[in-house]
Amino acid sequence: MIEDNFRHKGLRKKLVKEIAEKGIRSAQVLSAVEEVPRHIFFESSFLEFAYEDKPFPIGFGQTISQPYTVAFQSELLQVEKGMKVLEIGTGSGYQACILSHMGAKVFSIERHRSLYLRSKENIRDLGYRAKCFYGDGFEGLPTFAPFDRIIVTAAAPFVPEKLLEQLKPGGIMVIPVEAGGYQIMHSYHKQVDGSFETHTHGQFRFVPMLANKDNNKT
Ligand code: SAH
Repeated sequence: MIEDNFRHKGLRKKLVKEIAEKGIRSAQVLSAVEEVPRHIFFESSFLEFAYEDKPFPIGFGQTISQPYTVAFQSELLQVEKGMKVLEIGTGSGYQACILSHMGAKVFSIERHRSLYLRSKENIRDLGYRAKCFYGDGFEGLPTFAPFDRIIVTAAAPFVPEKLLEQLKPGGIMVIPVEAGGYQIMHSYHKQVDGSFETHTHGQFRFVPMLANKDNNKT
């Protein structure tokens, strides 16, 4: 049973105020952060950290992204209801729930089998319909392509060509690209002629995007 009480709701309101003060403007994004319970992605002993604007370990060397970062990427995506959105790096499943709450049809890939299994369950328990896949995000999801939007939530060593290919003309991909110990957030806007307009949006820090599935080892 998921408990989401007045205290949690109050903490979320505070968090929304905090990320709005840091520059998040989209009402759609702010209302998703206000509605999606982030604490269910935390083990009970760490609940008090769920509504701080910080990343937090979720096991296997991975983290649930900082709420501000989740909101920032979600805002850059300019999601509209019904859009097909591909996420690389399901992690906890929190970002997938935020995008689902915004009305996106989410497809999310995770290379860690244990995280894939756990996030799938959390997403389902919250009643969201994001589809989860255990696989390698560098490959994208050719079977379900093309996508209106693609969001990469791990530090990409380069911009994967296959992901750019799986974007619809008029589509947007948001991806943190490695720049030597930190990443620069990029957005790629695919034009009707297949070319790209790119923008950069400052420095962020993510865990690395690694090739291949973990095969239950790493
Ligand atoms: N979006 C997540 C944050 C995830 S952290 C959230 O809301 O919690 C980044 C995740 O990307 C980690 O879980 C990591 O295992 C995963 N990852 C790294 N490389 C990957 C790849 N090539 N394909 C899919 N997932 C990958």
